[in-house]
Amino acid sequence: MKLTKEDIKSYLLTLPKLELDSLIKELQDFTKTSSLASCKLSRREMLNNKQGSCPHCEHLKYVKLGFDKGAQRYKCKSCKRNFTEYTGTWMAGIHKKNKIDEYMELMLQEKSLDKIKEELKINKKTAFDWRHKILSSIEETDKDSFTGITESDETFLLFSEKGKRTLSRKGRKRGTNSKKRGVSDEQVAVIVTADRTGQRELSVATLGRIRKIDIEKSIGSRICEKTVLCSDSHVSYKGFALDNTLEHHALRADLKQHVKDGVYHVQHVNSMHNRLKKWLNDQFWGVSTKHLQQYMNWFRMKETLKTTAEPQTELAKRTILDVKARARYFEIDDKYKLIISSQN
Ligand SMILES: [Zn+2]
Repeated sequence: MKLTKEDIKSYLLTLPKLELDSLIKELQDFTKTSSLASCKLSRREMLNNKQGSCPHCEHLKYVKLGFDKGAQRYKCKSCKRNFTEYTGTWMAGIHKKNKIDEYMELMLQEKSLDKIKEELKINKKTAFDWRHKILSSIEETDKDSFTGITESDETFLLFSEKGKRTLSRKGRKRGTNSKKRGVSDEQVAVIVTADRTGQRELSVATLGRIRKIDIEKSIGSRICEKTVLCSDSHVSYKGFALDNTLEHHALRADLKQHVKDGVYHVQHVNSMHNRLKKWLNDQFWGVSTKHLQQYMNWFRMKETLKTTAEPQTELAKRTILDVKARARYFEIDDKYKLIISSQN
């Protein structure tokens, strides 16, 4: 027999008041712990607990200064400028803030935009924009130097203008392969780097073959004297390692050399390439090159948080830390133009 909501309600009302109260309390606690940490609330808490900094100048001292349209406002003691709990974050400028937490939960369950549109009664464009605002906010979190054996290798994805109404290049049927042989400018190079302590980087680099400068841009700021680079024997990697005086182990794929001395190889990043491609195809049916970096941010976080107990909550918490997120979101177009103009 299936109970309806009415059945349950009329049964509950027969319970003694004390029992009913304690049941209500239990249910409330249950929903609190099972749902995600509220993004809005936790950012305000963080700032109120003096764990934040001024989004304008990064100074650590600020005071509360009333409210601005429902948002907690603060004043920086150094630059004297005001800011709110949303300033600079991906949540700034979003109108339906009451839907943020529900949205986050659906997004992290990897529900489709259509499903989110239906559930939250927001339009699909909004659902799409929020996704990329959120993904822009995790681009720079969890990034430390690469230490020890650090594998780096590029993989290629087909250039795509998915979602664009008028294509500036000739479209291709989904699933069909690029006609040109080898690496062409129809392919987008993504540089994937990972050490064995859990540090990762996935960068959309260029159209066609990668150059030394692409590697420099992707991981140049994250190498240190403890980085031991493993890559193929491509000249770009050799040049990059030389420039930075890194210990470098280049594998000769042409000689079927896949592992050197038992430990030097790029098999972890190659298996990441495969997981990445499968995820993009299975979950999104491919994504546009313009937004590819945001999906790389998502994938990197997924991999980083795989072993944590509550990856969804952890991911949600990270999205409120970055006060450069909004600015980064508005750079998507310019960065895309750079990639397109990079074809060689
Ligand atoms: Zn300031």
